[in-house]
Amino acid sequence: MPQFHARAALLPTGWAADVLIEADAAGTIAAVTPGAAPGAADRLRGAVVPGVPNLHSHAFQRAMAGGAERRSPAGQDSFWSWRDTMYRFVGRLTPEDAEAVAAQLQVELLEWGFTGLAEFHYLHHQPDGTPYDSIAEMALRHLAAARRTGIGLTLLPSLYRHGGIFGRDPVPGQRRFLNDLDPFLRIVDECRAATAGDPQCAVGMAPHSLRAVTPAMLDALPALPGPIHIHAAEQGKEVTECLAATGARPVRWLLDHAPVDARWCLIHATHMDAGEIAGLAASGAVAGLCPSTEASLGDGTFPLRDYLDAGGRLGIGTDSHVGVSARDELRQLETSQRLALHERAVATTEAAPHPGRRLLDAALAGGAQASGRPLGGIAPGLRCDLVELDADHPSLVGRTGDSLLDAWVFSGQANPIRTVVAGAKRVVEGGRHVARLEIGESFAGTMRRLLA
Ligand code: ZN
Repeated sequence: MPQFHARAALLPTGWAADVLIEADAAGTIAAVTPGAAPGAADRLRGAVVPGVPNLHSHAFQRAMAGGAERRSPAGQDSFWSWRDTMYRFVGRLTPEDAEAVAAQLQVELLEWGFTGLAEFHYLHHQPDGTPYDSIAEMALRHLAAARRTGIGLTLLPSLYRHGGIFGRDPVPGQRRFLNDLDPFLRIVDECRAATAGDPQCAVGMAPHSLRAVTPAMLDALPALPGPIHIHAAEQGKEVTECLAATGARPVRWLLDHAPVDARWCLIHATHMDAGEIAGLAASGAVAGLCPSTEASLGDGTFPLRDYLDAGGRLGIGTDSHVGVSARDELRQLETSQRLALHERAVATTEAAPHPGRRLLDAALAGGAQASGRPLGGIAPGLRCDLVELDADHPSLVGRTGDSLLDAWVFSGQANPIRTVVAGAKRVVEGGRHVARLEIGESFAGTMRRLLA
């Protein structure tokens, strides 16, 4: 059985030295023993932290990253003009392209410390909207990619039926996304069948947003163990439209009309008033924050301090993948608050004075909950996901414990991650994914063809 020995490791009880981590054949941690000799175990000589779950991804958007920055002829660029660019782009992607892009993305995420991915998948059909022969073809391409790269996967087929709140007709650019309830449930069933018995995967559901489903559709979704993810309150215009249509803001509407609880993850939840912040925190749901994408799209600033003070749960995702680094998402989450509040160390308390540690702890717990799989820590029963930071790297050298975490999160541009173990398998060695070359070549071929 796989065994790893960490010179220093962040356990649920805090930092420990000389930690022996034993896993079973399914990739789950069986035993954790601090103060142990390495014996024949695979030695990790740096500082080992749990792999971070990424709770929000639209993998195909990795192929657009950096390609939607140019000013549009009309000016006044926004989330909505970006979305029009995205609709034009998705028309060209084949299933083979989707798999090549997803594999490249997963390689990058693993190299930057994400060992699990929740894929919010809405690009279901052929360009004219006709289903593929296998209705879950596109969704299952993400599973094929994950089985090559070793990333753990929570597949979240998305229900997308309408083009605006509540029940507006879709536009042609949305054709590939659209399903009525029955075909959507067939996609969910096929994803469940394809992942049955696989300890590295789970399947949930993702009603896309209050723009894309109706209240009746939300009610008709079968009661689920979860996870259930939905985009909510990303944009000011979305709040205005929801208020006009329903008399309530999006998060308030969901809290009042959907059974929002610990199974749920509200992606973004950027625009909340005090009552919504308290309500979401009390619900036990996770706020799925995607700081680099939210900055890229001009979404707004999440009310982090009030939400943490209320006991709210959060996790991080990379959404449109303009960023792919767990560290950078945590950094941007804190620094966005500093810019807004003109303060430092916002995500801290007297008892938790290191923002790097506090945000990492929050992202591990919330990300695990929103992934619906047992992970997010170095403890028996959880997936054996380990990230080894090179403690001799110039950005970390001489630091230990939570000070090392702060240095990792808040300084430098280089990547001090040396080894990544996902499901008890080494997938990143010397900072490079073991299949980086072949996956990168396939991705390059796809990109050259898409952009020709
Ligand atoms: Zn999203």
